[in-house]
Amino acid sequence: MQEKLNELKLLLQNKKNIVITIHRGPDADALGSALALSDVLKQLNHNVTVVSPNDYASFLYWMKGNNEVVIFTEKTEKAIEITNNADLIFLLDFNDLSRIGEYTETVRNSSSTKIMIDHHQEPNMNDADLVFSDTSSCSTAQLLFEILDGLSFKSMINKDVAECIYAGIMTDTGSFKYSSTTSKTHMVISELIDAGAENSKVQDLIYDNYSEDRTKLLGYCLNDKLQIFPELNSAIISLTEEELDRFNFKKGDTEGVVNYALAIKGIIFAVFIAEKEGKVKLSLRSKGDFKVNEIAKKYFSGGGHMNASGGISDRSVEATVKKVIEVFEEYKNELLTN
Ligand code: 5GP
Ligand code: MN
Repeated sequence: MQEKLNELKLLLQNKKNIVITIHRGPDADALGSALALSDVLKQLNHNVTVVSPNDYASFLYWMKGNNEVVIFTEKTEKAIEITNNADLIFLLDFNDLSRIGEYTETVRNSSSTKIMIDHHQEPNMNDADLVFSDTSSCSTAQLLFEILDGLSFKSMINKDVAECIYAGIMTDTGSFKYSSTTSKTHMVISELIDAGAENSKVQDLIYDNYSEDRTKLLGYCLNDKLQIFPELNSAIISLTEEELDRFNFKKGDTEGVVNYALAIKGIIFAVFIAEKEGKVKLSLRSKGDFKVNEIAKKYFSGGGHMNASGGISDRSVEATVKKVIEVFEEYKNELLTN
């Protein structure tokens, strides 16, 4: 780690054009880490641009620096030009270049030095020149804090930076309840609050900011769309594009829905399926040792963490539900002994 930190410090010694990018469909951990790092690098006098592969939920717009984020799918030419001129590209909160979707080739073809900072399993070492990977870390935001600390940049963690990092850690730990939450996490949080982060305000901005449509969609999911398989300790919630349209779906509106299925007593494997922009996406969540990342990889061209993974299906929503039930059956023994 120290060697890598020295290498990074050297790279940051003179003024550079820097791009920071994050996975497609960025969450608070991805965007918060990117905007926090961007703020610090700007304080060091670098030219910094955050490029997001696509747009994201409006409950993240409060983050400082959000207005300057370049969305690849909306300002493609500008994003390509900035990327081609970059000396350094930071890859945050993803383990493989394919996770930046339409932006992948632009980044891959760039001659810049690439630095990956991530907490997902099995980082693709070929995608970056310098890889900071800690799969035991609850979030990229926490890992970023430790890197900033290691670079002796902690004094640059102002209130805005602290709130971005706080948001990343808070959401990726489910508000400090997942098993990835450690004493280290709480120690980092304590320092962020001391640096000015208004913890309760950030909770409010992210979790108590639902539109009426979002709340009603959640009600519909739980009342009409939840299928429970008690004999398999599993549950599914699925939505078609037509159903999402009925509730004027906006990005982020279904985030967290899968957790309601997992919160039911006895359920250790919950799957959320939704058809968005013509693609059928899956969110897989589990409790204990049941490894959903293996299932995401094997059946749904995806991956992720042991207890939280995602993927896609080339079938219809209905056929995907059937496939998921087949998977439940296949893993019956593990589902019943976990
Ligand atoms: P979500 O269900 O919230 O979309 O994703 C949960 C986790 O699964 C993410 O943090 C990410 O690690 C992983 N994930 C989601 N979608 C994909 C995907 O398409 N491919 C891979 N490799 N991982 C994914
Ligand atoms: Mn993350």
